[in-house]
Amino acid sequence: MSHDPADTTSVRHAIEAILDDLQRAATEFPGPFLADRGPLTVEQLPAQGAGLSTVLAELRGAIGGGIRLNAPGMTGWITVGGTTAAIATQTAVAVAGGQRYLDHAFNHLEHLALRWLADLCGIPTEATGVFTSGGSTANLLSLGAARQAAYERIGVDAAAGGLIGVPAGRIYASTFAHRTIHRSAAVLGLGRDSVVPIPVDGHHRLRADALAEQIDADIAAGLIPVAAVAVAGTTDLGIVDPIAEIVEAARARGCWVHVDGAYGLVAHASADLRHLFDGAERADSWIVDPHKWLSTGVGVGAAYVRDGALLTRTFTEGPAPYLDDIVAGTRAVVSQFDSMSGDWADQSVELSAPPRGPMVWAVLREIGRAGVATRVEHHVGLAHALADRVREHRRLELITPPELSIVTFRYRPADFGAANPAAHDSLTAELVTRLRRTTRFVPSTTVVDGRLVIRPCFINPRQSIADVDGLVDAVVRIGDELAAENVTV
Ligand SMILES: *Cc1c(COP(=O)(O)O)cnc(C)c1O
Repeated sequence: MSHDPADTTSVRHAIEAILDDLQRAATEFPGPFLADRGPLTVEQLPAQGAGLSTVLAELRGAIGGGIRLNAPGMTGWITVGGTTAAIATQTAVAVAGGQRYLDHAFNHLEHLALRWLADLCGIPTEATGVFTSGGSTANLLSLGAARQAAYERIGVDAAAGGLIGVPAGRIYASTFAHRTIHRSAAVLGLGRDSVVPIPVDGHHRLRADALAEQIDADIAAGLIPVAAVAVAGTTDLGIVDPIAEIVEAARARGCWVHVDGAYGLVAHASADLRHLFDGAERADSWIVDPHKWLSTGVGVGAAYVRDGALLTRTFTEGPAPYLDDIVAGTRAVVSQFDSMSGDWADQSVELSAPPRGPMVWAVLREIGRAGVATRVEHHVGLAHALADRVREHRRLELITPPELSIVTFRYRPADFGAANPAAHDSLTAELVTRLRRTTRFVPSTTVVDGRLVIRPCFINPRQSIADVDGLVDAVVRIGDELAAENVTV
């Protein structure tokens, strides 16, 4: 008789065994250090299992060598770990909510969280929502629905028959749009090159007049406008495109409007910032990433489409005998196994998936709309405080002031000629490398109008003004050191 040696009875013991390490990792933030691969000493597939206690011991080592996303000095990219309620909920999902289908409590939270998130972000409640692994997949789902709509208008079912022998489609997005728009276009058979870069104005916002001209020219050339993307908070600069103007220009030309609010749309919770998103409620699709400003822990995005039937026509698996008796849903729901609960299996690219809504539910239940508004306003305030300090310092140069919670700036040596942009870029690159290696401050960089710049983004609930001041002081100190060393190559 075979016996599976894996233990399923010691959950309390196992979690207790790692609890202190988890608590420490969530509250103490050592500076950056080289990856500690300590526990990963066994390189080959073990022929024999080492047992639960060995796993737990090695896991404790891994926790100690994990990434410090939650550390308040971390301002790079747009990423952060979870807060306590979300972490506890993730653990609960792992034990009791492991599949987002069928009719159980965690799937009720999935439905509830989709409604709450739409309400928080100003997305019409009639839109159909689906949680995803993040913004990448959410953009794919939304643009998939847009592609379906565009080709159905010329009598083509793109999801069923593919894009063979049909006019090419075009997606319009500013030069600051996230590259997952391009990847979505590639996956959807439109091709990365179908994304037409639309120029931006002096504030790095998509120019709706240029969009209108481009769509007109493409229609005249027999191409299919698939979607115009309005970014609600660009990844590089945190700038919100003029959504209402984009809606006007695209609608007048029969083109779908997609709002990429992965980072910024959560700021709609703030009455002070809501005006930035005027017009978003008139779009056709939206995405938002709760794993960014809502701090749910990584792995939680959401896509919404006004006409949910388009999502189904795009992403349905088609008839699946292994599911159809439940999907058909004709019987009374008496047990958990009588209903799929949501149509997400046919509205996204995943069948098996964990419920992700419970983490969103947990965060919103804990802090409410007011708590989200307070968080967002706090971070926008930190970004403004940083911009002020940069403006005041002789050797710092503000490149873009914040609209949301991202600022870009750079160090400029006192005697630095403007003549050598390449040298300035390498100074900035070296400065940021030293910053990450030797301090607790970890911003990322980007390129604005051809210049390499330091780009902190504030979304971490633990951040305070000390993290702003510390970053500025560290940039000036390291910049001065580099200038003294004459590091300009
Ligand atoms: C982060 C981001 C994405 C991609 O989201 P992931 O969750 O990283 O896949 C897409 N668009 C914008 C504007 C983003 O900031």
